[in-house]
Amino acid sequence: MDDTNASDIDVVTGLMSIKNFHREAERYIIGSRDYYLIYFNTARISYIRDVFGDQVVKQIMKELGSLLKSLCRGGECASVFSSDNFVVLKQDKSSKDLFIINLISRIRAMNLPFELMCNFGIYEFTGEPVSITEAIENATFAESKIRGNYTVHSCVYTPLMRAEYMSENEILTMFDNAIRERHFLIYFQAQYDHSTGRLVGAEGLVRWKHPEKGVISPAVFIPVLENTGLISVLDYYVFEQACNFIRYCLDNNIHLVPISTNFSRYDLLLTDFVKQLEMIRRNYGVPAKYLRIEITESVVSDSLENTNRVVDQLHKCGYTVEMDDFGSGFSSLNVLKDVDFDIIKLDMRFMEHSSRNRRGGLILTAIIRMAQWLNLPVIAEGVETLEQADFLLSIGCECIQGFLYAKPVSRDDFEIVLRKAELGKIDRGLIFTEKLDSCNFWDPHSMETLIFSNFVGPAAILSMQGDQVKISRVNEKYVQELYMNSSQQDIVVTDFLDCFDEENRNIYLQMLERAKTSAREEECETWRNLRSNCCGESSICIRTSVRVIAKGPAAILFYAMIRNVTVEKKELENYKSQEKKFKHAVEHAKVYFWEYTIATKEMRPCFRCMRDLGLPAVVQNYPEPLIESGIFPADYADMYRDMMKKIDGGAPELEVYIPLTSARIPFIIRYTTEFDSVGNPIKAFGSATMVNGEKSEQKSD
Ligand code: C2E
Ligand code: CA
Ligand code: CA
Repeated sequence: MDDTNASDIDVVTGLMSIKNFHREAERYIIGSRDYYLIYFNTARISYIRDVFGDQVVKQIMKELGSLLKSLCRGGECASVFSSDNFVVLKQDKSSKDLFIINLISRIRAMNLPFELMCNFGIYEFTGEPVSITEAIENATFAESKIRGNYTVHSCVYTPLMRAEYMSENEILTMFDNAIRERHFLIYFQAQYDHSTGRLVGAEGLVRWKHPEKGVISPAVFIPVLENTGLISVLDYYVFEQACNFIRYCLDNNIHLVPISTNFSRYDLLLTDFVKQLEMIRRNYGVPAKYLRIEITESVVSDSLENTNRVVDQLHKCGYTVEMDDFGSGFSSLNVLKDVDFDIIKLDMRFMEHSSRNRRGGLILTAIIRMAQWLNLPVIAEGVETLEQADFLLSIGCECIQGFLYAKPVSRDDFEIVLRKAELGKIDRGLIFTEKLDSCNFWDPHSMETLIFSNFVGPAAILSMQGDQVKISRVNEKYVQELYMNSSQQDIVVTDFLDCFDEENRNIYLQMLERAKTSAREEECETWRNLRSNCCGESSICIRTSVRVIAKGPAAILFYAMIRNVTVEKKELENYKSQEKKFKHAVEHAKVYFWEYTIATKEMRPCFRCMRDLGLPAVVQNYPEPLIESGIFPADYADMYRDMMKKIDGGAPELEVYIPLTSARIPFIIRYTTEFDSVGNPIKAFGSATMVNGEKSEQKSD
C-alpha cells in the first residue's frame, strides 16, 4: 500500500517533496558511507518559459521527474526544490560518473528543441556526521564553482574548496584599510565591434591587491561586501577611479571610449545613489557621456518600481545604463520590456556552450532578436573563441567583450590600448539589414516566428515598396484583433491600404514616412473599415506604432504593433458630440445659465454669459456688480434684490420677467434651489431665457 500522502509529492515533477526527501534521505544514510548526493539545476528555464511557454517548461520538469525516478533504486531518492533545482541521493560512489553521463544522455534523448544545460555538484558522504541539509549545501557550493564553465559539467565537493576563500571575517577587518591604502585597483577590459575591429568601450573591474595574498578576484570579496552593505563604498570608489582615469585622458588628449563600472543591487536602494555619483563625476568635471552604469539583471526582480526610478534619474543626468549579466537566469526576457535600459550585456558564460550547433544557438538568437526588436544594442561578454564571435555577428550582435579580444588590464596598459586603437561607437542598429528574403523570420519553424507568435502582442510586419504598403506577416493576436475569422493568408493578399479612407490613409502613410526618417518608434490613430465574414462591415479605430526593422534594396520592413481603441474613441467622440449638441441647443435657445452659491453670494456664469456679457468666471457679491454695470436695469434692481433674498431664505423655485441690458431685451429668469440633507439651501441654479426669441428682441427695441 502507498503510504505517501498528496502533499508529499511535488505536483509538477511527480517527485517526492523536499521535506519528504530530507526525511527519507536522513534515514537511508545512517550507517552507510557509500552514498553521494547530486545537486543540479537547469539553467535558463525562465527564457525557455518565455519563448516556449509555461506548458513546455512543466512538461520538461515532468519528464525530468520521471527520468530521475526511473534512475533511483531502492534506498535512493530524488526531489525538486525552488521549481527547477533537483537533488538526488544515490548509492555506490564509484558509479557516480557513469550516472551523470547516463543522465546527460537521457536528457539529450528527450529531443527538446533547445539544449537543456545542467551542471552537477556532488557531495560524497564519508561517514562523518553530515546532515542532508549540509550535504545539499556542499553539493550546491561545488556546483557554483563550475557555473559558467563551458567544458566541465560536474564538480565534487572538497573541504579545500572552502579554505581557498578568504574568510568573511578576514575580508571585513581588512576592507577599511584596503580602501584607505588604495589596495583596490581598477582594471579595464576592452569591448570591440567585431565587424570593424574598432574599440567601442571598456568595463572597469575591481581587483584587490592584497599585500600578502597577491591579486584577489572580486568573486571572493564582493559577495561578502554585499552582505554587509560595504559594497557601495567599493562601488563609489571604483566609479571615482574611472572618473579619475577619464579626466587623465581628457587632460592628455587621449581619445576615449565610454567606461562602464559595476553597481550592486544594494547600491540602487540607497536614496542618494544618483546624487553621490553626480558629486563624484562633477568633482572630476567628466561629461556623463563617458560613463556607463552597469546594473545587474537581478535588481529588476528586487523592485521594478525602484529600478525604473533610478534608471530614469540616471538618464536625466546623461548616463547610459546597461543591464549586466543578462542570461544569468535571475529574470527573463520580460525585464527588457519593463525597464528602459540602453544596452544589455549578454553573458556567454551563462549560455549553453553549443552556440555552434543549430539547436544550441536558438535561445541566444531569440534573446538577440528580442533585443533588436526593442532596439537595444547587445554587448556579448565572455566571448572566448572566434567561432563564438562570428556566430554572434551572424545573428546581428557585433559588440564583444571577452578573452578573445582582451583580458582585463591595468590602467597603464589600457592607456596604451587607447592610444593605439581605432575607436568606434555602439549604435542602436537596425535588424535584418541584408538578405531580407533569406532570413529566418520567414521560416514558420524558426525562433523568430516563435517569439513573434507567442511573446509579443498583436503585431504585423509591413513591407513598403515605393508607395505600396503590404502586410507581410501577422501574428495570431493581430488576426484576432482585426480580422476575426479571416485566415492569415486572406490578410496578406488583401490590399492593406484599401481599408482606409483618403484622410486616414494619409495619416497612416505620414506615420510610415516619419518612422523611415526618424529610426524611432512612431505612432498614429486611424479609422479603418473592416469587412468580416460574420459581422459585415464595421469601422474601428486602431492605434498603431511602427518602427523600421529592415531596409533592403527594394523594400523597407516595418514592425507594427496595434491596439484597438475604438471603444475609447467612440466614447470620446460621443461625449464631444453631445457637448457640441448641447452648446448648439443652448446657443439656439438663447439661454444663459449660472450657479449661485448661497453662503458666499458667488455667482459662476456659463461660457455664454462670460462671452456675451463679459462676466468673469466668478462674480462676487451677486447681484450687485450686474446692477452696477447696467446688465440689470436700475428700475428692476430692487425687484431682483428681493428675489435673491427669497432664494437666500430657501425658496425652492422662482421665476421673474426682467428686461436686460441697456437694450432692455426681455428675458425670463428662473431659479431652482438645491438643499442639503437637513433642508438648508446651498445653491441655486439660474437660467435666463429670451422671451419669444429674436423677433421680440427687435420688437422691444
Ligand atoms: P562581470 O561584471 O560579469 O564582469 C565580467 C567578468 O568576466 C570579469 O570577471 C571578467 O574578467 C570576466 N571575463 C571577461 N571576459 C571573459 C571571458 O572571455 N571568459 C571568461 N571565463 N571570463 C571573462 P571579474 O573581473 O573576476 O569580475 C567578476 C564579477 O565581479 C563581475 O562580473 C562583477 O559582477 C563583479 N565586479 C567586478 N568589479 C566590480 C565592482 O567594482 N563592483 C561590483 N559591485 N561588482 C564588481
Ligand atoms: Ca559587469
Ligand atoms: Ca557581466
